[in-house]
Amino acid sequence: MGLQLLPLSRGGGDGAPSVALLDRLAAEAARLLAIACHVEPQAMSIEPLFDDIRGQAWSTAILARLQERRPARNSVILGVTELDLYVPVLTFVFGEAQLNGPCAVISAHRLREEYYGLEPNEDLLVERLMKEALHELGHTQGLRHCTDWRCVMSSAHTAERIDLRQAGFCPVCARLLTRLG
Ligand SMILES: [Zn+2]
Ligand SMILES: [Zn+2]
Repeated sequence: MGLQLLPLSRGGGDGAPSVALLDRLAAEAARLLAIACHVEPQAMSIEPLFDDIRGQAWSTAILARLQERRPARNSVILGVTELDLYVPVLTFVFGEAQLNGPCAVISAHRLREEYYGLEPNEDLLVERLMKEALHELGHTQGLRHCTDWRCVMSSAHTAERIDLRQAGFCPVCARLLTRLG
């Protein structure tokens, strides 16, 4: 499997993660998953998918836009943004992925300590982003949510729950992954 990290921004480039952050995430992903990981230099605009009243972008519509880029066989496009994401039935989502599909998206917005009024912590941010990336990648490979709270495939709706998860798959999910992959 190959992984392509694609920065997502609003029209003016607003909301795209820094190159430094994307590079760190790519290096982590390549190390943890032993896969080729590429950072796309040009951000994709998701301006039309941004809801000004909510102040959020609609993640499911982003997945459809990523799909239009026709990801190569055996490769996954992971959109990464600083913009807050939502799906209509939920207040927010950390990310979303196609189950058994090549597209996924994650947001750094609520993974930053600053969001909770705390001091910035870049290492913690990378760790949380990596866990979210692994979780969504798991979905793209056909994995569903796991009941083991330590597993990266467990569902998490708060940053604290993400911190409890390890940056890896439990033995059951890991076994499923090798079978699916
Ligand atoms: Zn999930
Ligand atoms: Zn699991």
